[in-house]
Amino acid sequence: MKFSDIIGQGRTKSFLQRLAKSERVPHALLFLGSTGSGNLALAVAFAQLLQCENAGEEACGDCPACRKAAQFAHPDVHFSFPTVGANAVSTDFLKAWRSALGENPYRDINAWLQQLGAENKQGNITKDECNAIIKKLSLKAFEGRYKILVMWLPEYLGKEGNRLLKLIEEPPEQTIFLLAAENQEMILNTILSRCQIVKTELLGDDDIVEGLHRKRSIDPDRARQIAFLAGGDFNLALQLADNPENDDARFLLDWFRRCWRGNGVELVQWTEAFAKLGRENQKQFLQYGLHFLRELMALVATGNTAVRLRPEELSTAQNMAKVLDFEKITQLAGLFNDNVYYIERNANPKILFLDTSIRMNHILKNEPF
Ligand SMILES: [Zn+2]
Repeated sequence: MKFSDIIGQGRTKSFLQRLAKSERVPHALLFLGSTGSGNLALAVAFAQLLQCENAGEEACGDCPACRKAAQFAHPDVHFSFPTVGANAVSTDFLKAWRSALGENPYRDINAWLQQLGAENKQGNITKDECNAIIKKLSLKAFEGRYKILVMWLPEYLGKEGNRLLKLIEEPPEQTIFLLAAENQEMILNTILSRCQIVKTELLGDDDIVEGLHRKRSIDPDRARQIAFLAGGDFNLALQLADNPENDDARFLLDWFRRCWRGNGVELVQWTEAFAKLGRENQKQFLQYGLHFLRELMALVATGNTAVRLRPEELSTAQNMAKVLDFEKITQLAGLFNDNVYYIERNANPKILFLDTSIRMNHILKNEPF
């Protein structure tokens, strides 16, 4: 993986490039941020840059080291990550790991554990894994300039992390730890204090739009809508992109939530994102909203869950049925109907939907206009 494969994170990339050039790489770096922001991806790309035989600003992608690293199979880049089973070690799952990294280095821990068939089992980084790491890193480098350990989610070490303290504190020559973590509080302080922390921020909407275009060829309008819901997490953006039938449902639910809270800033943000969708998408969304409200009305009237809603929509509708009566749903449907009419007549969407959001807040909270 090269830096150019990773979306956004320009500042962190330049920092790492300078670090690699300086030849004074700290022996332990902790990439702190959500996996969906790309912290694991950055650690993996940095490992390749460090091993590349013709590295400039970027790994060359062509030398033998790069070719192996691109397959996540460089003999001096080791991977460690949560697995399932009391005595499990990462090498048992290396094949699944390589394909997961190749497919989507932004994926979250739940998706990874599901892929391992964990069902309800907890993931962990075991005692045996710690011993295996100590053994691997005590060997001489096979062919690389460095021996590198990329560890995803050291949070899962728990107290077994104590076994690695000495190694991280006094690592063998040319040994580098690259840890990618999400939750600082869940890591032993003694490990934290030995690492230089590199924070990876959530991605900007523009980065996500560009990433969706690059990885899924999604047009900018739809990508903006997805970016808005993804809140800086590219993994979530990919999930939304891959399940388009849920877009409207999620967008509607998000809108209802914001209208319920009635926070002005949140409502303005929502209307600005909505205004960018274009008239046809706005109309389609409102039609979907009307469909949802009709089914919700049937649910409230009959208590019968045999309505035309998908399972996740039904659970939203059931929650809403607790706080909305027939009268309120009728008022909401009236608003949606009016808006279809206004959109067709070229109303300014920002003004129209901010006004609608405020009205929805009043209806939901049972306040007069
Ligand atoms: Zn190279």
